[in-house]
Amino acid sequence: MDMFLDLASGNTSKDLETCGVLGASLKKGTFYVTTLIIPKQESESNSCQALHEEEIFSIQNQQGLFPIGWIHTHPSQSCFMSSIDLHTQYSYQVMVPEAVGIVMAPTDKSRDYGIFRLSNGGMRILKDCSEKGFHPHREPADGSSIYEDCSNVYVNQNLRLEICDLR
Ligand SMILES: [Zn+2]
Ligand SMILES: [Zn+2]
Repeated sequence: MDMFLDLASGNTSKDLETCGVLGASLKKGTFYVTTLIIPKQESESNSCQALHEEEIFSIQNQQGLFPIGWIHTHPSQSCFMSSIDLHTQYSYQVMVPEAVGIVMAPTDKSRDYGIFRLSNGGMRILKDCSEKGFHPHREPADGSSIYEDCSNVYVNQNLRLEICDLR
């Protein structure tokens, strides 16, 4: 996460988001994030769109990586998942149920990062939502929140991380 923030710093200082994709290997029932892919992208202060996604898929296929999630910055916003972020997260969790969405919010004084996932209720709401752009979502009927902090992610400083910066 710190390496990503370093690579994003040029954008962050211009109030532009940066996004990256996390690739993982699967060993004995545990996903290990081994690769950070930073695609070519188009950024604004509150959104970021990956371009040439085929370049991401090609690296994942060559190296047999699972798309275990994504990471992006909120250069001036607080640490939360926007409605657009929730739709992106949905597309990852449909592929890999364990997928996470990491938000790095260096200017948020109360929490500067979050590792999030959609709740089961959140998955149902997003599945039925066809709206685009920023828009409100209803809360899950079971009283849970639409997304939650991941409780099953561990930081291993000894793990080697490969960075593919395609920009
Ligand atoms: Zn966001
Ligand atoms: Zn929606």
